[in-house]
Amino acid sequence: MERIFNFNAGPATLPLAVLEEAQSELLNFKGTGMSVMENSHRTKEYEAINSEAEALVKELLGVPENYRVLFLQGGASTQFAAVPMNLVSPESHADYILTGAWAEKAYKEASKFVKTNVAASTKEENYTRIPRVDELKVSDSPAYLHLCSNNTIFGTQWQSFPDLGGVPLVADMSSDILSRRFDVSKFSLIYAGAQKNLGPAGVTVVIIRKDLLEDIPSNIPTMLRYDIHAKNDSLYNTPPSFSVYMVNLVLRWLKNNGGLVAAEKRNAEKAALIYEAIDNSEGYFRGHAVKDSRSLMNITFRLPSEELEKTFAAEATQQGMIGLKGHRSVGGIRASVYNAMSMDGCRALAEFMKAFQSKNA
Ligand SMILES: *Cc1c(COP(=O)(O)O)cnc(C)c1O
Repeated sequence: MERIFNFNAGPATLPLAVLEEAQSELLNFKGTGMSVMENSHRTKEYEAINSEAEALVKELLGVPENYRVLFLQGGASTQFAAVPMNLVSPESHADYILTGAWAEKAYKEASKFVKTNVAASTKEENYTRIPRVDELKVSDSPAYLHLCSNNTIFGTQWQSFPDLGGVPLVADMSSDILSRRFDVSKFSLIYAGAQKNLGPAGVTVVIIRKDLLEDIPSNIPTMLRYDIHAKNDSLYNTPPSFSVYMVNLVLRWLKNNGGLVAAEKRNAEKAALIYEAIDNSEGYFRGHAVKDSRSLMNITFRLPSEELEKTFAAEATQQGMIGLKGHRSVGGIRASVYNAMSMDGCRALAEFMKAFQSKNA
């Protein structure tokens, strides 16, 4: 059977090599006579997966020694609550930058538990861009400044992270983690649901600076406590073992394909194919994001009418390209081109865009 080009925003496409590897050891994992899913998480086989995955995240991202990498459950959405609960004391507060729907959700959730402040928002411009550093109104010594590195729904991405002289950053990197290099040491905490760039749904990666594990308030539910999960190497309770196993295979695949240096280059080339089709269309395709805020992971654009957008998505599906319908809050088309989307997939979409325009303009 032919594999299709899957442009879904998440869960998203996975590398074929990874799926084949998982398939080949599905029934009998490393001579255990059973699958990873059926194995106890208290075995040396599973512990090897868990620690290799932690080591690979550290290696690929260049995570400094004074950080821990955790594999948790509940999705990025659970982190919207866990982050403020763990990091903000009653005397303190947290700042949020609103750049899209997920950043807004993180802000609203935190506001239920702690004092919050909006440091910037581009909502009035329908989240077409990332704010400039000179627009940020950071409050007096917040516990952290929260940002969403890539706005999955609107298709914008921080091109570089703000350096605000000692203000600790927290980032939701669900839709662009491991797609490019950045300096982890600028962040107190980073979290990312796996189902966009890292693997299947069911596991969330949290990277946290170790000193923050020292004074977590005592009244936080056990399962939301970073210190408990760190002390137990993410094995406090039954982990989502098959998801962690898949993430580990994806991490190995990334490493074997040149790590983040190569991933970053591939991602820039892939996105350029589609942005060129937009920019050379003389206004037939209109990008949602302003150019200097464009995401390399989620490419959002409109056609001249909603009717044409429907036809575009339907004809693309017939040609083996699925998942292109934009999120209902933005409309139009969204092509999600995470690490695992191939150059061939992006080329096919760009060619289809040009042909569609010639036929319908
Ligand atoms: C998908 C997504 C989320 C939500 O993730 P869940 O794992 O479904 O909770 C949060 N933030 C961003 C940036 C996302 O892309």
